[in-house]
Amino acid sequence: MNRRRLCILGATGSVGRSTLDLVARAPDRFDVLAVVGHRDAIGLAAAARQVGARRAVIADDACRPALTEALTGSGVEVASGDAAVMDAAGGGADWTMAAIVGSAGLAPTMQALAGGRTVALANKEALVSAGDVMTAAARASGATLLPVDSEHNALFQCFDHARPERVRRMTLTASGGPFRALSRDQMRAVTPREAVAHPNWSMGAKISVDSATLMNKGLELIEAFHLFPLRADQLDAVIHPQSVIHGLVDYVDGSVLAQLGPADMRVPIAHALAWPDRMATPAQPLDLVALGRLDFEAIDEARFPAFALARQALEKGGAAPAILNAANEIAVAAFLDGRLAFLDIATISGETLARFDPPPPASLEAVLAIDTEAREIARSKLKRFAA
Ligand code: NAD
Ligand code: MG
Repeated sequence: MNRRRLCILGATGSVGRSTLDLVARAPDRFDVLAVVGHRDAIGLAAAARQVGARRAVIADDACRPALTEALTGSGVEVASGDAAVMDAAGGGADWTMAAIVGSAGLAPTMQALAGGRTVALANKEALVSAGDVMTAAARASGATLLPVDSEHNALFQCFDHARPERVRRMTLTASGGPFRALSRDQMRAVTPREAVAHPNWSMGAKISVDSATLMNKGLELIEAFHLFPLRADQLDAVIHPQSVIHGLVDYVDGSVLAQLGPADMRVPIAHALAWPDRMATPAQPLDLVALGRLDFEAIDEARFPAFALARQALEKGGAAPAILNAANEIAVAAFLDGRLAFLDIATISGETLARFDPPPPASLEAVLAIDTEAREIARSKLKRFAA
């Protein structure tokens, strides 16, 4: 088998590090052309050395000297700046991991898609913001978009891609996050530290907060809409606190196929990394007897309004998902900085969505312009809500 040539965008993050861990365990299957990070020069240098990457690219130019120093004698080529990130993304890899967080990942992911090869998508915000533009780009270049998000990867494994009309609906599971059992009143004073302490998954700060508000599950409905040929009313989510079942596909005859696995991102990442083959991972085997039971409950939209907002944005379509995503990114960053209360994340996101109604974006530039303006609106609201 030819070695698969990889580019890893977001190599210093949680998904990026899990990807590198798998690559380092199977060195004869992969050749890493580039690892890309934002500001963590030491982490990026370690990532490049771990997998023998040819090139390490740091987005922030100011961090280049530290990267160069950390890679002295390694033979790894160093580059920096947004243009170098785009170069790496368009560098002809067979397989690109899109794991930059937020809409910062949109342009590099589009660049990778233009190459017409395989893009493993973790960066859900990119697809939420630019769904139609992105899927059109993939069709135009012939690129394959593989879902890495655990729920979508589960659905991808259970879905009848040849005969989608056989599918009646799909269900994503949600752990419910750290505040699943809290009242609105109890959520008023929760801290960033409590919000990022996810009960089942270890993830970056932004997605951990999204999991606590359940915005993450709403963004995931929008993500699923773009990844699978189903209508919005065929997509649903259910709380499943154990995070053992990740997604369920319900067929017209009443059969339901589900994917189960440990709450370890290396499982869906390995699926995408080896696809259409399989590869071994060090993930703990699932022990159903030790688990004993699996529980399910409906999502309470009154306590978790962010989920309802995302569903509205999905139904509205056009620019709405990009606006919601941008406002949420601003609000989550302010919350993590201690400048905004937890419950105001959804308030600011909802107000921004209600205030701004541009026409549906038809290009990457149009999506980025909407993203910029929605961020400004959300930022201007922060003052009123300052925690
Ligand atoms: P993280 O915060 O741990 O890592 C983010 C990565 O993005 C880092 O490598 C950082 O350097 C890079 N980055 C940030 N801004 C950048 C910029 N302007 N230019 C270049 N690089 C930049 O996040 P994560 O948890 O690894 O999540 C990454 C993406 O995957 C997110 O979109 C998230 O929603 C999605 N995802 C994550 C998980 C998970 O388990 N962590 C699961 C499903 C989906
Ligand atoms: Mg997920």
